[in-house]
Amino acid sequence: MMLAGLGLLVGCASRQSGRSLPGALWPEPRAVASGGTAVPPSSRVTAGSGLPGVLPRDNWARGNPIASKVNPMTTPHHITIHHDGMTPFHATNARDVAAQIERIRSMHVGNRGWGDIGYHYVVDRSGRSWSARPIRYQGAHVQYQNPGNIGVLCLGNFEEQSPSRQQLSGLHVLLVALSTRYRIPERNILTHQEWSTANTLCPGRNLQSRIDAMRRSGTLV
Ligand SMILES: [Zn+2]
Repeated sequence: MMLAGLGLLVGCASRQSGRSLPGALWPEPRAVASGGTAVPPSSRVTAGSGLPGVLPRDNWARGNPIASKVNPMTTPHHITIHHDGMTPFHATNARDVAAQIERIRSMHVGNRGWGDIGYHYVVDRSGRSWSARPIRYQGAHVQYQNPGNIGVLCLGNFEEQSPSRQQLSGLHVLLVALSTRYRIPERNILTHQEWSTANTLCPGRNLQSRIDAMRRSGTLV
């Protein structure tokens, strides 16, 4: 059916058939009154939260977050790792990566009706990190568990391809920076499928196994 097809195309929702997809918006209380008023930035997560070495959003985005459809971020306490689950993606040049991130944003906004791309950061196959949804806004990436949860997307489909060494290294660097800045302990860095409320293969067996190994060897953060 159409929705199942969208699930395959749009990213890290469950790829198993017969399971429902999340709705157009995660069913959480909306902090914003209707009428399109701007979302006030959280008092604790400010607009100036860019991380060193992370490419700014204007390198890829062709649209701004829709203020009436995003909530302010609360104090970050978890990080969740995802894959996109789409057609395997091998490109490393910045132009193709930028186009892929924009493709995901446009699907999240156009098909799912969200206010922006669901994730806060993206790590590409060459190990670059890109800012996605501004961290001052709550993400849309783990159903029922978005408040205080930073979403990190590793570009690719790791059910069908393996992450590159550079991508894993880039993920590690980003996780260290985020966990340090927001004082998030390693035990609160999860993959999507590790949330008990989630019903998904995300981030794919070939990334999940590498993250398991990084934890065992003490190299995740
Ligand atoms: Zn996911």
